[in-house]
Amino acid sequence: MMTIKTTNLGFPRLGRKREWKKAIESYWNNKISKTELDEALQKLHRENLILQKNHHLDSVPVGDFSLYDHILDTSLLFNIIPERFQGRDVDDDLLFDIARGNKEHVASALIKWFNTNYHYIVPEWDNVTPKLGRNIILERFNYAKSLNINAHPVLVGPITFVKLSKGGNRSFEEKVRTLLPLYIEALTSLIKAGATLIQIDEPVLVTDEGEALEDITREAYEAFAEAEVADKLIIQTYFERANVKFLSSLPVKGLGLDFVHDNGYNLEQIKNGDFDKSKTLFAGIIDGRNVWAADVKAKKGLIETLTDYTDDLYINPSSSLLHVPVSLDDETSLDDTVRDGLSFATEKLEELDALKRAINDNNTEKLDVLQAQYERFQNQDFKNLTYDFDSVRSERKSAFATRKVLQQERLHLPDLPTTTIGSFPQSPEVRKKRADWKNDRISDEAYETFLKEEIKRWIEIQEDIGLDVFVHGEFERNDMVEFFGEKLQGFLVTKLGWVQSYGSRAVKPPIIYGDVKWTTPLTVDETVYAQSLTDKPVKGMLTGPVTILNWSFERVDLPRAEVQDQIALAINEEVLALEKAGIKVIQVDEPALREGLPLRKAYHEDYLQKAVHSFKLATSSVEDHTQIHTHMCYSQFGQIIHAIHDLDADVISIETSRSHGDLIKDFEDIHYDLGIGLGVYDIHSPRIPTEDEITTAINRGLQQIDRSLFWVNPDCGLKTRKEDEVKAALTVLVNSAKKLRQNSSNPVA
Ligand code: GLN
Ligand code: ZN
Repeated sequence: MMTIKTTNLGFPRLGRKREWKKAIESYWNNKISKTELDEALQKLHRENLILQKNHHLDSVPVGDFSLYDHILDTSLLFNIIPERFQGRDVDDDLLFDIARGNKEHVASALIKWFNTNYHYIVPEWDNVTPKLGRNIILERFNYAKSLNINAHPVLVGPITFVKLSKGGNRSFEEKVRTLLPLYIEALTSLIKAGATLIQIDEPVLVTDEGEALEDITREAYEAFAEAEVADKLIIQTYFERANVKFLSSLPVKGLGLDFVHDNGYNLEQIKNGDFDKSKTLFAGIIDGRNVWAADVKAKKGLIETLTDYTDDLYINPSSSLLHVPVSLDDETSLDDTVRDGLSFATEKLEELDALKRAINDNNTEKLDVLQAQYERFQNQDFKNLTYDFDSVRSERKSAFATRKVLQQERLHLPDLPTTTIGSFPQSPEVRKKRADWKNDRISDEAYETFLKEEIKRWIEIQEDIGLDVFVHGEFERNDMVEFFGEKLQGFLVTKLGWVQSYGSRAVKPPIIYGDVKWTTPLTVDETVYAQSLTDKPVKGMLTGPVTILNWSFERVDLPRAEVQDQIALAINEEVLALEKAGIKVIQVDEPALREGLPLRKAYHEDYLQKAVHSFKLATSSVEDHTQIHTHMCYSQFGQIIHAIHDLDADVISIETSRSHGDLIKDFEDIHYDLGIGLGVYDIHSPRIPTEDEITTAINRGLQQIDRSLFWVNPDCGLKTRKEDEVKAALTVLVNSAKKLRQNSSNPVA
């Protein structure tokens, strides 16, 4: 059989102990100099390169490492500088200012990188003068060379770069054409420096819009061929299937395809003869964005199949490893039965190496060890619980109209009732106490006493302000998903399993490693305590199954919907425990419902239908007189508005202040006939809204939404705000609502 090679598409920047984040933030806070920052980052970059080399990769990526974001790097490479930042030296300080904003100017927008939780900086084309700027990719390539590392530059391709851009009055095609000579200049410089393989990332070609971009894609890559740079290029795709036949017809050296997240279609196309055998194939066979150990035996089979269809095969992760933590080595308190099943970035490189040795040298020693671990993990009891999903209601007993009357009889809400979304400020004191408690510096009792004092203080504040439905404030929570991950069976919260979300910001998603189960109440104590202090209803506050799943590393050995339903049953237990404890209003947050939409529209309906089902499993068992709320943010609800209606929540509170009237219109268009709490001010800004602004927002909403359904609340949770900002803003909110109130009690329809 032919020999295969291994490669990688990108390595996490963060560092094992988040050294990257720490260095960059220290520089921002003037704790280290620019020279110290450069040294710290170069050290990290070197370690990443050497670690990959030591795992015998035949080619190591460069250009994946960045000070903030690789799309922003590309903007600077081509001098695509936002207009308001133009005229300055193009250096790292400019880069940070574009990413973060400065005193004079707002930052560029951040947008989710396809369907991942990574966010890139949107390139802005207004009045730009594209030219080849500081050639950072060449510098990084030369640096790898100086370390004796066989590297390949990684550059986002022109089609994807332009697709992710905004502004300017050039058409899409004109922007691409403007960039082509600059790409050619950069590619030529890399080839001159010795690059024999260049990875051009074009993930946009796997989206629904990809098809419409094929003509301009062909034009671009033919221009590269004309300039004699195309024979080094690998067009790299990931996260979904690509049009293999089309890409194969382009005059490039090879293609990179994802064989993990393609629903089997890439392999099908290859078997169908759509791949040009003379081209190089970068086969993404190890899951680059999840944390599971691979079924290496099955992977070996896949490789053997692929060798029939190409004469030059590289195996690699399905995408950049940016989306997974660096190494399992620091997870010192992991149970071995769980460790067997996990694989972070470093371990994924080991899997690739084991596969290469098994294929090229017939040496299966390492592969056999990995396979045994994999199989041991799959057979653990914690993965084999049984569930009776049908035993739990997924429809409320009565329709909303009936429930509404029964709820109002218990809650006695006024016209235009006011509430908040759940969290109150996570003050430095709150965070310090939690850290002290986690590190055993204070006792459980001391921590609980502190939490109770904080809850009590905020119940009094809500009383003074005159809100109608209270919350306890979520002081005990670090994060709305991690908190549940720590308490539910089947979840693992790692020590250092961080992944970059945007810039220096990292998140630590829980890992769902086994069947999910509710074993003890999660939120009942705090909620009941808060309720004991007031006559006003206190809302129980939970995170919904769709959001918990979307913000965790999910299992892949079970259908996604099944894992989601397992979580739903656990949340249902908690909902019932709260109801039993006398809580009359329960909110189940689903802020991630929208962002979990699959990349391809073909899968949207199925996703939404399953999401709705899980939410309803979690919330439908309560009595009619218990009021279920939900909350969503990150706007753009138009596409999913029917699903939101289907959730059948008695009240939804939504973020609207940043999308103004558009969103409310979506709700009007489908004749939304359940309760709606309109986010009447933007909590992301420290600015205190005026009564006028809030009154205008309420009145605008009332033009489109029936008064009897209407609630007044902020956009989102208040945990990132300061106490005095929250008090002032909520006072304005309550006063505005009170002035608009027509009669003392909510008109029951
Ligand atoms: N209840 C949560 C909070 O108030 C909701 C957070 C969110 O929407 N992301 O913080
Ligand atoms: Zn929110």
